[in-house]
Amino acid sequence: LNKRGAHKKICQQSLESQIELLEREIEMDLGCGDDGGGPCGACKFLRRKCVKGCCIFAPYFESSGQGSAHFAAVHKVFGASNAAKLLTRIPVHKRLDAVVTLCYEALARATDPVYGCVAHLFALQQQVYIYEFFFFVVIHL
Ligand SMILES: [Zn+2]
Repeated sequence: LNKRGAHKKICQQSLESQIELLEREIEMDLGCGDDGGGPCGACKFLRRKCVKGCCIFAPYFESSGQGSAHFAAVHKVFGASNAAKLLTRIPVHKRLDAVVTLCYEALARATDPVYGCVAHLFALQQQVYIYEFFFFVVIHL
């Protein structure tokens, strides 16, 4: 590899590790459901009263941990009202996936304001091209 190629590879690796970290963080923080008393992470961020069972965000944004920080990112990118509207239109069993996606996109947008999660797609696509090339070389040797 030349210098530029090596730099590109390092950038890709750090991007991939960032993606993995984000995914792990989101999975750890979401889907935990009720974590005791107090407002959920969303209501904590919005400084409003949280009524468990009525709050659409409560099952997905815990009050402790990264719940508030993740909701802050979602609020900044999509807006709390739009996120709530989106979730109400989705069947309950699919909401966790939607929230994971919203968080993923919002956090990616916070990291990379220009490309957001599309930067991850480009990096992965480039990786596919590289492996296709290696595969082609190996097959034709
Ligand atoms: Zn709440």
